[in-house]
Amino acid sequence: MNRAKVNQNINLNDYNDIWVIGEQREGKIHPVTIELIGEAKKLASEINKKVIAVVAGHEIDEEVNKLLHYGVDKVLYISSPLLKTFSTDGYSISIANLILERKPEIVLVGATSIGRDIGPRIAAKVGTGLVADCTKLEIDSTDGKILQTRPAFGGNLMATIICPINRPQMATVRPGVMQKAAHIDNPSGTVEVITPSLTEGDIIAKVVEIIKSCKKRVNLTDAKIIVSGGRGVKGPEGFELIRAFAEKLGGEVGSSRACVDAGWIDSMHQIGQTGTTVRPGIYFACGISGAIQHLAGMSESKYIVAINSDPTAPIFKVCDFGIVGDLKEVIPAMIEEIEKNNSFEV
Ligand SMILES: Cc1cc2nc3c(=O)[nH]c(=O)nc-3n(C[C@H](O)[C@H](O)[C@H](O)COP(=O)(O)OP(=O)(O)OC[C@H]3O[C@@H](n4cnc5c(N)ncnc54)[C@H](O)[C@@H]3O)c2cc1C
Repeated sequence: MNRAKVNQNINLNDYNDIWVIGEQREGKIHPVTIELIGEAKKLASEINKKVIAVVAGHEIDEEVNKLLHYGVDKVLYISSPLLKTFSTDGYSISIANLILERKPEIVLVGATSIGRDIGPRIAAKVGTGLVADCTKLEIDSTDGKILQTRPAFGGNLMATIICPINRPQMATVRPGVMQKAAHIDNPSGTVEVITPSLTEGDIIAKVVEIIKSCKKRVNLTDAKIIVSGGRGVKGPEGFELIRAFAEKLGGEVGSSRACVDAGWIDSMHQIGQTGTTVRPGIYFACGISGAIQHLAGMSESKYIVAINSDPTAPIFKVCDFGIVGDLKEVIPAMIEEIEKNNSFEV
C-alpha cells in the first residue's frame, strides 16, 4: 500500500511556497484553478513566496502548459496512466506524497465536488488541518501566517481561523469567490513532470463507468446577467416568469434556497452560502428577502436590482436599484419595455 504517513514534529521553517491544487476535468482546467492562482499571487506578493500549481492527470501536457500563462512560477504535473481518470485515492495519495516531500507552506484547493473530496483526505494524510469554504484569505502582517475567514454558525458570523502549529496551512475556496489571475503572453515559469509511485492496488474505489447527467447545466459562475427567484414567486409555475425574463435578457436563472427546498427548482440554480457564489454584471433578486446566507453568494454582483412587495425587505439595504411591487406586475412590465427598445446590454 502506498499510504502517505502523518507528519509529526515539524519545523515550520522547512515550509515554503504557495501551492494551488489545479483541477482538471476530462483534460480541461477548471476555472477555479485560475481564481486560486490569482489569490495565491496576491498572498505570495506579501510574504515573498513562489506560486506553484499542482495538476494530476495524464496526457494533458498542453492544458498544463496553459497554466504558466497565469503567472505561476512552476507547475508540478503529476503524470501517470493511473491518474487519467479521477479517483479519490489516486489523486489524494499522489498529491499528499508530493506535499510531504516538497513541503509547501500554504495549499489552496477549489471547493468543487472533487476538491471537497480530496482536500480533507490530503489534509489528514499530511497531518494538518483544513479550513473549508473560505471567503477571504489574508496574511497576518505580524507573523506572516494566513488568516482564513469563512461563514460560521449558519452564516450569522464570520470566523477567522489560523493554523498555528501544523503545515501546510490548507484552505478550500468555492468557485467564483476570488478574482481570476490575469493572462500573460510571455510566461517565465516552468513545468516539472513528476512520476508518482502509485500502484493499481492503491486505488481502492475503481471508476467503472461515467454516466453524464442529462440535465441542461446552468453556468451561474460565468453569467453576466442572473435573474433569481425567491419564495415570492409563490410556486414552481412562478419560475416560468423568471425564465422568460432571463431569456429576454440573455441571462441565467438563479434561485434562493427556499425555492430549492420546496422543490420548485433544481438545486443547481441555488445561489448563496450553500449554493453557487456569483458575481454577474447585474443580478435581479425577484421575491427574495435578502437573508445573509443568500447575500453571501451574490453581494459581489456589480449591480443588484431588487423587486419585492415589502418595502422593509433587507434586500433593499444592499441593492443598487429597488422596485417595490408585485413581481407578477413588475417583471411583465420590464419585459414589455425591453421588447419596445429591442435591446438590453450590461
Ligand atoms: C446554514 C444555512 C445555509 C443557507 N444557505 C442558503 C443559500 O445558499 N442560499 C439561500 O438563498 N438561502 C440559504 N439559506 C436560507 C436563508 O436563511 C433564507 O431562508 C432564504 O434565503 C430565504 O429565501 P427567500 O428570500 O426566497 O424567501 P423569504 O425569506 O420567504 O422571502 C420571500 C420574499 O418575497 C417577497 N414577496 C412575496 N410575494 C411577493 C411578490 N408577489 N412580489 C415580490 N416580492 C414578493 C417577500 O416580501 C419576501 O421578502 C441558508 C440557511 C441556513 C441556516
